[in-house]
Amino acid sequence: MVRSIRKYGLLAALLVLAAVVMAACAVPVAPPPAAAPPAGDTAASGETQAAASTELNLLCTPQVQWCEGMKAEFEKAHPDITVNFVRMSSGESLTRLRNEKDNPQFDIWWGGPIDSFVAAKAEGLLEPYDSPNLANLANPDLTKDPDNAWAGVYIGSLGFATNQNWLDENPGVEPPRSWDDLLKPEFEGQIMVAHPSSSGTSYTALCTILQLRGEEEGWNFIRDYAGQVLQYTRSGAAPANFVGQGEAAVGIVFSHDIVAAAEKGSPLVLTFPEEGTGYEVGGMGIIKGAQHLDAAQKWFDWALEPSTQELGPQYEAFQAPTVSGAAASRPELLEVNLIDYDFDWCGANKTAIVDRFTNEIANAENLKE
Ligand code: PLP
Repeated sequence: MVRSIRKYGLLAALLVLAAVVMAACAVPVAPPPAAAPPAGDTAASGETQAAASTELNLLCTPQVQWCEGMKAEFEKAHPDITVNFVRMSSGESLTRLRNEKDNPQFDIWWGGPIDSFVAAKAEGLLEPYDSPNLANLANPDLTKDPDNAWAGVYIGSLGFATNQNWLDENPGVEPPRSWDDLLKPEFEGQIMVAHPSSSGTSYTALCTILQLRGEEEGWNFIRDYAGQVLQYTRSGAAPANFVGQGEAAVGIVFSHDIVAAAEKGSPLVLTFPEEGTGYEVGGMGIIKGAQHLDAAQKWFDWALEPSTQELGPQYEAFQAPTVSGAAASRPELLEVNLIDYDFDWCGANKTAIVDRFTNEIANAENLKE
């Protein structure tokens, strides 16, 4: 299964996108209407009017600064709703949603690569919602589930973060510019990346390699590359901070998280694998059985507004937006060689690929926090 790199078509589509833009007090509500209610409406329908929810339980996968910022911004836009959020990495979120399937505690899941949303939809964990603001999506083929189980809220590419001080101390060593460079002797025991069981970032890297190289060669490469890894982290963005602190030389992280760490003063050099890098569409989906369905729909609508998607940089988030009319803060992060990432394949095979990695390559014990 070697997947081709659709360099120019996909890149052009993403560039167009970048350029165009560039726990709970429940009041039961009615099931979702076939058509979305107008923004600002309650979800009440039929003969009895259910009271509007005053709480929203958010499962938030991006970095905590952005989760806190989005909570505050949503509460400003909807002063009648209090947002309670828990920050959890993608794989942990999926596990939590599976465990709570019969008694869901969260209303909406926002952020993290859609591979996990594709997997969640297949397991019946998401409630489709035909939001009127899905019409704002600049590239719905890429950023919207055909059945409206999830929608994309941001896009970001994978990169390598190398510590500049370490480079200065090791003259002649260049930052990695291909996946093969990670196997060089100078990087032995110098690489940090999250574990794919907890992290969507790490899973994106794993599935990128399998698509670039095919399954057999890909798993051989992953085995070799795992031999270079100093330590696995729980969260996908954490290696950027640890590499910045000099705990390892190179981190494999989403490029926007490398930019965020550099903006805070970490001495990091950002490079990309020239033969192609993976990318994410950050997802959002309402949880099946959500106790505050009306409030979840309000969040869903709000997160697809251009003004909402332009809030990221205020909260150290530099992903590209998915909706027309929102400007990308760092369009150059998508102006790289992106592979034709197959979200359906990566989502459908997530459990099997992560289990194989955990059983055959590296277990998920003692992940660095
Ligand atoms: N934080 C940010 C800013 C992200 O863009 C993403 C990816 O969507 C994540 C976190 C994902 O976190 P993790 O890799 O821990 O699942």
